[in-house]
Amino acid sequence: MRVLIGGGSGFVGRELTHLLRDKGHEVTVISRQPGPGRITWGELESRGLPPCDSAVNLSGENVINPLRWWNESYKQDMFSSRIDTTKALSQAIAASSSPPHSWVLLSGVACYKPSLTAEYTEDSEWTPYDFLSQLVKEWEAAARLPENVAKTTKQIIIRPGVVLGRDGGAMKQMMLPFWLGFGGTLGSGTQPFPWIHVSDLAGIIARALEPPAGAPCPSPQVYNGVAPALNTNYEFTKELGQILRRPTVLPVPGFVLNALLGSERAVVLTQGQMVIPKRTLESGYQYKYPDLTSALKQIVES
Ligand code: NDP
Repeated sequence: MRVLIGGGSGFVGRELTHLLRDKGHEVTVISRQPGPGRITWGELESRGLPPCDSAVNLSGENVINPLRWWNESYKQDMFSSRIDTTKALSQAIAASSSPPHSWVLLSGVACYKPSLTAEYTEDSEWTPYDFLSQLVKEWEAAARLPENVAKTTKQIIIRPGVVLGRDGGAMKQMMLPFWLGFGGTLGSGTQPFPWIHVSDLAGIIARALEPPAGAPCPSPQVYNGVAPALNTNYEFTKELGQILRRPTVLPVPGFVLNALLGSERAVVLTQGQMVIPKRTLESGYQYKYPDLTSALKQIVES
């Protein structure tokens, strides 16, 4: 299979590329930077969709970029890095004379309103209630293909929780403070912490990229990209501390995170959602790391 990966140079993209190449598939990355095995977004726009059997978009400015202050320009980049790239790909697919059989978007669980009690599946109704949920709404809408193309191209949306892996994402930022013994719960610690190991997320994406079994569903199918274990931030913190054999007694108060990150994005750390991967489990996906202990041990010991 020839697979096109928007934002494939990033944390999830590298893992997915590795998995796909191991399975014998060909990968082309779309990036802002030219290079071997890549095309640029400008080339996609000017030359149209290169020959491919499936496509996925993973582009997006990092939400917790510690080097960037939360201001209008950052917020604009959060939107444009996701929505403009997704639109560019969905429009190129719609305009192609041989569109791919599968089109996948990675969005996020920020669409579900944080709660200590509500449980969300892919079937849960939601309406935007803040900056990040509005972003998810516009992002997913940008992926939607016109009706005539949706008859032959399967559309899948995967909503990942916090992606855990050695080489990027949240763990890359957390390992050092935890190693130094400065790890602690974020905010109250009672908030749900929806998470997935990067290897499982790559596995779920790879399955979504496969050809549809029959005629594709006319509307996008959503899959929650989270592990089936429901954990809190406290449980995550204690488990990581235990595996690293480090104390985790220094909580980071919510007001500090709000002040450092801006309250609109600090919510991803101080609040959370109980997300159930109902359809992902029903699809028969077998998790390699269904629980925190196995996931964190793999990350720490690799
Ligand atoms: P990365 O932070 O690794 O970024 C992926 C790629 O996006 C980069 O390699 C880069 O590609 C491109 N990119 C970054 N900033 C911009 C920008 N300002 N404009 C255009 N392109 C940009 O993301 P991940 O691999 O961690 O995540 C993949 C997707 O999954 C993202 O959309 C993310 O929002 C979503 N997600 C991730 C989670 C996580 O915990 N990691 C959780 C939930 C959702 P290049 O430099 O080659 O152009």
